[in-house]
Amino acid sequence: MTVAFSEHVLMSIADIVLPKMPVKPKREDLAKDTVLCDHCTAKCCRYFALPLETPTTREEFEYIRWFLLHDHASVFTEDGDWYVCVHTVCKHLQDDHRCGIYETRPQICREYTTKDCEYEDDWVYDQYFETAEQVVEYMDAVLGPGGMEVGDGRKKKNRNKSIRSQKPPLLPVLG
Ligand code: SF4
Ligand code: SF4
Repeated sequence: MTVAFSEHVLMSIADIVLPKMPVKPKREDLAKDTVLCDHCTAKCCRYFALPLETPTTREEFEYIRWFLLHDHASVFTEDGDWYVCVHTVCKHLQDDHRCGIYETRPQICREYTTKDCEYEDDWVYDQYFETAEQVVEYMDAVLGPGGMEVGDGRKKKNRNKSIRSQKPPLLPVLG
């Protein structure tokens, strides 16, 4: 199918002006009396995270795999602690990124401060799992082949389950 363009639709790519995205200032560049949240899209109101027991058994890793079979869930670790994170926006976050129930917001929101918040966009987790497959891969690496708990992979009973070939027989000594 041939589509005819009118003359003023024909323009070179160089003529297209993209809207300028506002540049987010660095935390350290802001004046002391500036409210950091005024420069943020309320990142802390767009998820909740709950601490988890550090998984050490196949059963516990299976729970984590199950979490990640759900939409909008991830699991991360920070300083050795594990968390499940649900990426969902608070119902009271307004279009202007402000809290719609500021006066009655929950205690956790009142206590949260900008001091160690996630304002920066280049922040990385120690470990971050997005898919169930990543958990399986990690679980197999940590538990060892066929292992049911951490360290199992080094136990003798699991050695013959290794994907590596068994120790080969010694070559005969030539007389
Ligand atoms: S506390 Fe941090 S992450 Fe939350 S809105 Fe303020 S600057 Fe953004
Ligand atoms: S209640 Fe307000 S401060 Fe708390 S998460 Fe919701 S929008 Fe953010």
